[in-house]
Amino acid sequence: MTSQTGRIHSIETFGTVDGPGIRFIVFTQGCPLRCLYCHNPDCRNAHDGKEVTVDYLIDEIKKCKSFIRKGGVTVSGGEPLMQPEFTREIFQRCHQMGLHTALDTSGYCAIANAKPVLAETDLVLLDIKSYIPELYYKVTSVSIEPTLEMARYLSEIGKPVWIRFVLVPHLTDNIDNINQLADFIATLKNVERLEVLPFHKMGEYKWEQLGLPYSLKDTPPAPPELVQQTVNIFCDRGINALGAVGI
Ligand code: SF4
Repeated sequence: MTSQTGRIHSIETFGTVDGPGIRFIVFTQGCPLRCLYCHNPDCRNAHDGKEVTVDYLIDEIKKCKSFIRKGGVTVSGGEPLMQPEFTREIFQRCHQMGLHTALDTSGYCAIANAKPVLAETDLVLLDIKSYIPELYYKVTSVSIEPTLEMARYLSEIGKPVWIRFVLVPHLTDNIDNINQLADFIATLKNVERLEVLPFHKMGEYKWEQLGLPYSLKDTPPAPPELVQQTVNIFCDRGINALGAVGI
């Protein structure tokens, strides 16, 4: 049987921050969001990147099998749910090899299209970019509703989730935004951890290279005290929150 083809931006063979253990990471090409802080703006256009088969990726994954045995494979992006058949087949083939699978997604996808992928997903890394709808739109240029629906659905089916929230000074650090996000997360039954990712500007040069205007030029990185205060707000709701590697 011929394997699916899909478009990817790149692969990483020794990832340590996108899921448990050491992970092989596939960065898919194409994303419907336009996050102001995107650290991979070159991942966003669905027609860029390179076309590969699942067979090719599985051969690459097999070469790393000895050191990702206790970690697994993460499909990130871009937005993997823009290529659901491709992502599902990668995960299915990983499961056949006994490897753990993690899906890094913004949740901006119809649930019906995501279901076949989720059936082969052990852990969802769900990026919730903000909570107040207007602020979410300002950060991403899309509506928050599909992401909230995805979060509720994952809770209903009991799928393990790590939530990721990027803390951007003067943008997502609005106290109402964080309190309301914390209240929402506290209603979910499946959240194993919540990572507060401090904003940094390591992706800024890519915006310049692509000739795109970078509106966060004057935004400072998130200081450790602000990260800790934010973590505390989540912990106060009984959420297992921690400060993580920045974005
Ligand atoms: S979801 Fe990720 S890849 Fe897409 S625009 Fe936002 S930061 Fe960039």
